Amino acid sequence: MQNTDLTEAPSTARIQRANSLAGDVYEAIFAQLMSLRIAPGSRITVDNLVKEFNVSHTPIREALGRLEGEGLVLKTHLIGYRAAPQITRRRFDELYELRLLLEPAAAAKATATLDDERLTVLQEAAGVMARREGKDERLRYSNFARQDAIFHDKIVEFAQNELIRETLNHQHTHFHIFRLMYHSRVTEEALDEHEAILAAFSAGDPDAAEKAMRVHIENSRDRLLPAFE
Ligand SMILES: [Zn+2]
Repeated sequence: MQNTDLTEAPSTARIQRANSLAGDVYEAIFAQLMSLRIAPGSRITVDNLVKEFNVSHTPIREALGRLEGEGLVLKTHLIGYRAAPQITRRRFDELYELRLLLEPAAAAKATATLDDERLTVLQEAAGVMARREGKDERLRYSNFARQDAIFHDKIVEFAQNELIRETLNHQHTHFHIFRLMYHSRVTEEALDEHEAILAAFSAGDPDAAEKAMRVHIENSRDRLLPAFE
Protein backbone atom coordinates (compact mmCIF):
# COMPACT_ATOMS: atom_id res chain seq x y z
CA MET A 1 0.00 0.00 0.00
CA GLN A 2 1.12 3.50 -0.77
CA ASN A 3 2.24 5.86 1.96
CA THR A 4 0.86 9.34 1.84
CA ASP A 5 2.28 12.58 3.06
CA LEU A 6 1.39 13.04 6.71
CA THR A 7 2.87 16.49 7.20
CA GLU A 8 -0.45 18.27 6.72
CA ALA A 9 -2.98 19.05 9.44
CA PRO A 10 -3.88 15.80 11.22
CA SER A 11 -7.56 15.70 10.26
CA THR A 12 -6.87 16.32 6.55
CA ALA A 13 -4.05 13.82 6.58
CA ARG A 14 -6.26 11.19 8.16
CA ILE A 15 -9.01 11.64 5.58
CA GLN A 16 -6.57 11.64 2.68
CA ARG A 17 -4.89 8.56 4.04
CA ALA A 18 -8.21 6.76 4.45
CA ASN A 19 -9.23 7.67 0.89
CA SER A 20 -5.92 6.58 -0.50
CA LEU A 21 -5.98 3.30 1.43
CA ALA A 22 -9.49 2.43 0.22
CA GLY A 23 -8.45 3.38 -3.32
CA ASP A 24 -5.26 1.32 -3.14
CA VAL A 25 -7.14 -1.73 -1.86
CA TYR A 26 -9.70 -1.32 -4.63
CA GLU A 27 -6.97 -1.05 -7.29
CA ALA A 28 -5.16 -4.11 -5.91
CA ILE A 29 -8.27 -6.30 -5.98
CA PHE A 30 -9.26 -4.91 -9.40
CA ALA A 31 -5.79 -5.85 -10.70
CA GLN A 32 -6.16 -9.39 -9.34
CA LEU A 33 -9.54 -9.75 -11.04
CA MET A 34 -8.28 -8.40 -14.38
CA SER A 35 -5.13 -10.50 -14.38
CA LEU A 36 -7.06 -13.63 -13.35
CA ARG A 37 -5.17 -14.10 -10.10
CA ILE A 38 -8.71 -14.16 -8.75
CA ALA A 39 -10.31 -16.51 -11.28
CA PRO A 40 -13.76 -15.78 -12.72
CA GLY A 41 -16.46 -17.47 -10.66
CA SER A 42 -14.18 -18.15 -7.69
CA ARG A 43 -15.03 -17.33 -4.10
CA ILE A 44 -13.60 -14.18 -2.56
CA THR A 45 -13.10 -14.30 1.18
CA VAL A 46 -12.91 -11.02 3.05
CA ASP A 47 -10.71 -12.59 5.76
CA ASN A 48 -8.17 -13.80 3.20
CA LEU A 49 -7.95 -10.33 1.64
CA VAL A 50 -7.60 -8.79 5.13
CA LYS A 51 -4.58 -11.05 5.71
CA GLU A 52 -3.11 -10.56 2.24
CA PHE A 53 -3.23 -6.76 2.30
CA ASN A 54 -2.78 -6.40 6.04
CA VAL A 55 -5.67 -3.94 6.38
CA SER A 56 -8.94 -3.90 8.30
CA HIS A 57 -12.27 -5.25 7.00
CA THR A 58 -13.60 -1.78 6.16
CA PRO A 59 -11.53 -0.93 3.05
CA ILE A 60 -11.93 -4.50 1.79
CA ARG A 61 -15.71 -4.34 2.08
CA GLU A 62 -15.72 -0.89 0.49
CA ALA A 63 -13.65 -2.12 -2.43
CA LEU A 64 -15.83 -5.21 -2.91
CA GLY A 65 -18.95 -3.01 -2.85
CA ARG A 66 -17.48 -0.82 -5.57
CA LEU A 67 -16.49 -3.86 -7.65
CA GLU A 68 -20.00 -5.23 -7.18
CA GLY A 69 -21.33 -1.99 -8.70
CA GLU A 70 -19.02 -2.56 -11.67
CA GLY A 71 -20.37 -6.06 -12.20
CA LEU A 72 -17.04 -7.71 -11.42
CA VAL A 73 -18.01 -9.15 -8.05
CA LEU A 74 -21.28 -10.80 -7.05
CA LYS A 75 -22.61 -10.90 -3.51
CA THR A 76 -24.93 -13.68 -2.44
CA HIS A 77 -26.88 -13.56 0.79
CA LEU A 78 -25.31 -15.81 3.46
CA ILE A 79 -22.70 -17.11 1.02
CA GLY A 80 -20.61 -14.02 0.47
CA TYR A 81 -18.61 -12.69 -2.45
CA ARG A 82 -17.42 -14.33 -5.61
CA ALA A 83 -15.85 -13.09 -8.82
CA ALA A 84 -18.33 -12.67 -11.69
CA PRO A 85 -18.28 -15.66 -14.03
CA GLN A 86 -16.56 -15.53 -17.42
CA ILE A 87 -18.67 -14.30 -20.31
CA THR A 88 -19.85 -17.10 -22.59
CA ARG A 89 -18.60 -17.63 -26.15
CA ARG A 90 -22.00 -16.65 -27.47
CA ARG A 91 -21.96 -13.40 -25.51
CA PHE A 92 -18.43 -12.72 -26.70
CA ASP A 93 -19.45 -13.14 -30.36
CA GLU A 94 -22.48 -10.92 -29.87
CA LEU A 95 -20.42 -8.27 -28.15
CA TYR A 96 -17.82 -8.08 -30.91
CA GLU A 97 -20.52 -8.05 -33.58
CA LEU A 98 -22.08 -5.08 -31.78
CA ARG A 99 -18.74 -3.31 -31.41
CA LEU A 100 -17.93 -3.78 -35.11
CA LEU A 101 -21.29 -2.31 -36.08
CA LEU A 102 -20.98 0.75 -33.86
CA GLU A 103 -17.39 1.71 -33.11
CA PRO A 104 -15.80 2.08 -36.57
CA ALA A 105 -18.68 4.36 -37.61
CA ALA A 106 -18.36 6.29 -34.35
CA ALA A 107 -14.62 6.75 -34.95
CA ALA A 108 -15.30 8.16 -38.40
CA LYS A 109 -17.96 10.49 -37.05
CA ALA A 110 -15.79 11.61 -34.13
CA THR A 111 -12.99 12.63 -36.50
CA ALA A 112 -14.89 15.69 -37.68
CA THR A 113 -15.42 16.95 -34.12
CA LEU A 114 -11.80 16.78 -32.96
CA ASP A 115 -10.00 19.95 -31.98
CA ASP A 116 -6.60 20.12 -30.26
CA GLU A 117 -8.15 19.77 -26.82
CA ARG A 118 -10.08 16.64 -27.73
CA LEU A 119 -7.09 15.15 -29.51
CA THR A 120 -5.05 15.60 -26.34
CA VAL A 121 -7.77 13.89 -24.31
CA LEU A 122 -7.71 10.94 -26.71
CA GLN A 123 -3.92 10.78 -26.76
CA GLU A 124 -3.86 10.59 -22.98
CA ALA A 125 -6.67 8.05 -22.84
CA ALA A 126 -5.06 5.80 -25.46
CA GLY A 127 -2.53 4.63 -22.88
CA VAL A 128 0.30 4.92 -25.37
CA MET A 129 2.27 7.37 -23.27
CA ALA A 130 2.14 5.18 -20.17
CA ARG A 131 3.37 2.25 -22.22
CA ARG A 132 6.40 1.36 -20.12
CA GLU A 133 5.21 2.75 -16.83
CA GLY A 134 5.41 0.65 -13.69
CA LYS A 135 7.01 -2.66 -12.95
CA ASP A 136 4.00 -4.56 -11.69
CA GLU A 137 2.70 -6.48 -14.72
CA ARG A 138 -0.70 -7.17 -13.17
CA LEU A 139 -1.20 -3.55 -12.24
CA ARG A 140 -0.11 -2.45 -15.70
CA TYR A 141 -2.55 -4.86 -17.27
CA SER A 142 -5.47 -3.69 -15.12
CA ASN A 143 -4.54 -0.04 -15.74
CA PHE A 144 -4.65 -0.71 -19.46
CA ALA A 145 -8.05 -2.39 -19.16
CA ARG A 146 -9.38 0.76 -17.54
CA GLN A 147 -7.63 3.09 -20.00
CA ASP A 148 -8.94 1.11 -22.95
CA ALA A 149 -12.49 1.45 -21.66
CA ILE A 150 -11.99 5.23 -21.31
CA PHE A 151 -10.36 5.59 -24.75
CA HIS A 152 -13.19 3.82 -26.55
CA ASP A 153 -15.81 5.64 -24.50
CA LYS A 154 -14.28 9.05 -25.29
CA ILE A 155 -14.38 8.34 -29.02
CA VAL A 156 -18.08 7.51 -28.84
CA GLU A 157 -18.66 10.57 -26.65
CA PHE A 158 -17.05 12.78 -29.31
CA ALA A 159 -19.17 11.09 -31.97
CA GLN A 160 -22.11 12.58 -30.04
CA ASN A 161 -24.48 9.67 -29.82
CA GLU A 162 -25.43 9.05 -26.19
CA LEU A 163 -27.50 5.99 -27.04
CA ILE A 164 -24.54 4.24 -28.67
CA ARG A 165 -22.42 5.27 -25.70
CA GLU A 166 -24.86 3.83 -23.17
CA THR A 167 -25.26 0.65 -25.19
CA LEU A 168 -21.52 0.04 -25.29
CA ASN A 169 -20.97 0.96 -21.65
CA HIS A 170 -23.72 -1.34 -20.51
CA GLN A 171 -22.49 -3.97 -18.02
CA HIS A 172 -18.89 -2.85 -18.15
CA THR A 173 -18.14 -5.17 -21.02
CA HIS A 174 -14.54 -3.98 -21.36
CA PHE A 175 -13.66 -5.37 -17.97
CA HIS A 176 -15.17 -8.74 -18.88
CA ILE A 177 -13.24 -8.81 -22.14
CA PHE A 178 -9.93 -8.21 -20.42
CA ARG A 179 -10.64 -10.97 -17.92
CA LEU A 180 -10.74 -13.55 -20.70
CA MET A 181 -6.99 -13.76 -20.92
CA TYR A 182 -4.03 -12.32 -19.08
CA HIS A 183 -1.20 -11.81 -21.54
CA SER A 184 1.15 -8.92 -22.34
CA ARG A 185 0.38 -9.41 -26.06
CA VAL A 186 -3.14 -8.17 -25.38
CA THR A 187 -1.86 -4.77 -24.28
CA GLU A 188 1.24 -4.42 -26.49
CA GLU A 189 -0.57 -5.06 -29.76
CA ALA A 190 -3.59 -3.04 -28.71
CA LEU A 191 -1.34 -0.04 -28.05
CA ASP A 192 0.08 -0.22 -31.58
CA GLU A 193 -3.47 -0.26 -32.90
CA HIS A 194 -4.44 2.69 -30.69
CA GLU A 195 -1.53 4.61 -32.22
CA ALA A 196 -2.91 3.90 -35.69
CA ILE A 197 -6.33 5.22 -34.64
CA LEU A 198 -4.71 8.34 -33.15
CA ALA A 199 -2.73 8.91 -36.35
CA ALA A 200 -5.96 8.87 -38.38
CA PHE A 201 -7.56 11.30 -35.91
CA SER A 202 -4.55 13.64 -36.08
CA ALA A 203 -4.69 13.55 -39.88
CA GLY A 204 -8.43 14.34 -39.74
CA ASP A 205 -9.12 11.34 -41.96
CA PRO A 206 -12.51 9.74 -41.13
CA ASP A 207 -12.05 6.78 -43.52
CA ALA A 208 -8.69 5.91 -42.01
CA ALA A 209 -10.16 6.24 -38.50
CA GLU A 210 -13.02 3.90 -39.39
CA LYS A 211 -10.61 1.36 -40.87
CA ALA A 212 -8.12 1.58 -37.98
CA MET A 213 -10.92 1.06 -35.46
CA ARG A 214 -12.27 -1.92 -37.39
CA VAL A 215 -8.81 -3.51 -37.55
CA HIS A 216 -8.31 -2.91 -33.81
CA ILE A 217 -11.61 -4.53 -32.83
CA GLU A 218 -11.12 -7.48 -35.18
CA ASN A 219 -7.60 -8.04 -33.85
CA SER A 220 -8.81 -7.71 -30.29
CA ARG A 221 -11.42 -10.41 -30.97
CA ASP A 222 -8.82 -12.70 -32.56
CA ARG A 223 -6.37 -12.21 -29.69
CA LEU A 224 -8.97 -13.25 -27.14
CA LEU A 225 -10.61 -16.13 -29.03
CA PRO A 226 -8.09 -18.70 -27.75
CA ALA A 227 -9.57 -18.17 -24.27
CA PHE A 228 -12.50 -20.33 -25.39
CA GLU A 229 -10.42 -23.23 -26.75
ZN1 LIG B 1 -8.66 -0.43 -27.58
